[in-house]
Amino acid sequence: MLAIILVWRFLRWFSSFKGFPDPWEGEIDSEELNSDSKPICLKCQRPVNNPSQYYCPNCGNVTGDYTRYMPFINIPFNYSIFGKIWKRLKNPETFILTKIMLFVLILITLSAMVLLFSFGI
Ligand SMILES: [Zn+2]
Repeated sequence: MLAIILVWRFLRWFSSFKGFPDPWEGEIDSEELNSDSKPICLKCQRPVNNPSQYYCPNCGNVTGDYTRYMPFINIPFNYSIFGKIWKRLKNPETFILTKIMLFVLILITLSAMVLLFSFGI
C-alpha cells in the first residue's frame, strides 16, 4: 500500500514539473537574434565574412563549426599548441621551472607521436 502511495506521489510530482526557467528570458533583443547578423571570431571579435571559412584571416583562430573534425584541415588546430609552448619557452619572462616542464612536455609528446607514427597507429 505504501509503495502505491509513493508511486502515485511521484507521478503527481513528476507531472507537475514545468521545466527549467529560461535564464535569458527577455534579456536578448530581437535584433540580436536577427538572421542578418554575422558570426564573429571568438578570439579577435571581428566578423567572419564567409561562415564556411575554416580559420580567421586576421588571427588564425578556428571559425568553422566543423574545422576541428575535418582531416588535414584540422592540422593547424591540433598542433597549434606546440607553437604556443615554443613561444613561452623563448619568452625571457617565463620562470625557469616552467620552461623545464614545458620542454619535458614537448619531449614526451614528440616521442609519443614518433612511436605512434612508427607503429602506424
Ligand atoms: Zn580572429
